[in-house]
Amino acid sequence: MSGKGIHHVTAIAGPARRNLDFYTRILGLRLVKKTVNFDDPGTYHLYYGDEVGHPGSILTFFPWEHVAPGRVGLGETQETVLRVPEGSIGYWAHRFVENGVAHQPLTRRFGETLLSFQDPDGMRLALVAVPGIENEAGWTGAGIPADAAIRGFHSVNLLLAEAAPTGAILTNVFGFGEVGREGSLVRYRVSDGGAGSVVDIHEAGGLLPARLGGGSVHHIAFRATDDAEEAAMVRKLAQHHGIRTTEQKDRNYFRSVYFREPGRVLFEIATDIPGFAVDEPASTLGETLKLPAFLEARRSALEETLPRLEQGAS
Ligand code: ZN
Repeated sequence: MSGKGIHHVTAIAGPARRNLDFYTRILGLRLVKKTVNFDDPGTYHLYYGDEVGHPGSILTFFPWEHVAPGRVGLGETQETVLRVPEGSIGYWAHRFVENGVAHQPLTRRFGETLLSFQDPDGMRLALVAVPGIENEAGWTGAGIPADAAIRGFHSVNLLLAEAAPTGAILTNVFGFGEVGREGSLVRYRVSDGGAGSVVDIHEAGGLLPARLGGGSVHHIAFRATDDAEEAAMVRKLAQHHGIRTTEQKDRNYFRSVYFREPGRVLFEIATDIPGFAVDEPASTLGETLKLPAFLEARRSALEETLPRLEQGAS
C-alpha cells in the first residue's frame, strides 16, 4: 500500500481569539473553516491550513476558554513540525523574536535545521527548513513573503514507551517505511515526500503518561484517498493488529474513523474528499460560522454562546 501520510493534526487550545491571532497573524496560516466540535457543539472547531486546506496542511483546534494546561508525557504527540523553505529559517527566527514567541536556538535533526517554538498555550511546534519547496503553493497571510510561507506539515513526533508496536501500524496500515534512527528517535516516511510524509517516534520508557489539556495534541489523522481505501485500512487493522476502529463518522469535510494505537495515541483515518469548499466558496473560506445540517436548527443559540471571533484585517 502506498501511503499518503498525515491528513490533519487536532490540538486543544485556550481562548479562541488568542488561538486565531497566533495562527493567522504570527504563523500566517489561513483560517479555512470556522465550525463547532460536532461532538460538543458549544465549542468551536477552528481549522487552519494552506489556501484550500489541502490534506497535509491542516492544523485544527478545540479552543476551551478555561482549559487547564496539559502535561507532556508518554502516549501523545510531543511536537508538531511544519515545513518552511530552506532559506527562510532566519526570517522566522527574527519574526519570533519581534513578536515575543517562545522559541529555542536552531538545532539539527536527521541532518535538517529545526526551529522549535511554542504557541500561547505551550503547544510544542517546530519549523524545519526544507530545500526545494519554494515553488510549492503556500498561503501568504499576515504579510509573510511567498518564499517564507509555511508549506504544510513536515512531521509529528510521538513520545512513546517503545517504537515497534506503533511502527508496525505505520508501516503495515499507512504505508510508511522506517528510514532512519538517531539517538532515541526512529523516523518513518511515506515515499512521496510531500507535506505530512514523516512520523518520528521518540522512545522514552519510564516517563509518566501524558495528561491531556491546553497545548496538547488531541489526535493525529492519516490520509485515505476515499471511503474504499479507508475501509481497506480498517480491515487491515482488524485482521493484522486486532484493533477495532469506531464506525465511520461524517465530518462534513472528510469522513473518519478513530482508534487508539498500541502506544495510546488517538489516531484517525480521514478521507481526502470532499474538502473544505463543500459548504462555502474557496475564496471566502473561514469567514462565516459553518454548521453541519443536524446543528442548523440550533444556530442562533450556538452563535450566542460561542465567543466572538471577528477576524482582523490581516
Ligand atoms: Zn480529526
